Amino acid sequence: MFESSTRLQIEKYKIKRNANLEEFKIKERKYHKAYRDKLRVEALTHYCNGVIRCQCAGCNVTELLFLTLDHLNGKGREHREITGWGWKFHLWLKRNKYPAEYRVLCFNCNSGRYLNGGKCPHEVGSYR
Ligand SMILES: [Zn+2]
Ligand SMILES: [Zn+2]
Repeated sequence: MFESSTRLQIEKYKIKRNANLEEFKIKERKYHKAYRDKLRVEALTHYCNGVIRCQCAGCNVTELLFLTLDHLNGKGREHREITGWGWKFHLWLKRNKYPAEYRVLCFNCNSGRYLNGGKCPHEVGSYR
């Protein structure tokens, strides 16, 4: 009973979708984008203890698009090869209860650390 009515609903949706394919595609794309954005914001919020901001002392970047999740031991790339990139990675973090080996950094602090032997120039000054 329940199953067949669900199947009927799916069929009705498909028919409607096919009749308005472009409109549905735009809607679905928006829906998926909102879902992906939500996963990202959830991950950033968790790793920032509620207030989204670059976690480097002395840096005040709060712009979402400038922030990235940085692996504490520099294994971010390696790890994402396993979990998938972007929203797949954020979903993996959520499903795995946000493991502690990540932190939020802006791209400047992230590459600043990398180029400065692991310490952000904000903390120790540039090696020059
Ligand atoms: Zn920063
Ligand atoms: Zn910094």
